Amino acid sequence: MAINVLIVDDSSTMRKIVQRNLKQTRLDIAEIFQAGDGQEGLAVLQAQQVHLILSDWNMPNLDGLGFVQAVRANTAWDHIQIVMITTEGGEAKVQEAIGAGANGYVKKPFTADDLEAQLTSRAA
Ligand SMILES: [Mg+2]
Repeated sequence: MAINVLIVDDSSTMRKIVQRNLKQTRLDIAEIFQAGDGQEGLAVLQAQQVHLILSDWNMPNLDGLGFVQAVRANTAWDHIQIVMITTEGGEAKVQEAIGAGANGYVKKPFTADDLEAQLTSRAA
């Protein structure tokens, strides 16, 4: 089944990098949506069928942790896989997001292989 992916990051450059890496994986992707922060991400989820979220941590309005908490508070979105994208040294913080229901994380800068290692076992 082809999946729809939502990329949430306040940097448009980072969103482009993530999108490019995503397209280099073997994942069967139908559509890629983008959002600039957690609030925009929630709006996309309300309007679109999403199977996988790749989310930044530091963002205005609603950050990565708040976004994960909001997604996991809605049982209609239980099936959505969430992978956090973090900077070097941010792993400890990301454990909070995993505690809140994120499924995994990759560190910036990451390769398509790094991303795929987190995704194939989770989103396949
Ligand atoms: Mg950011």
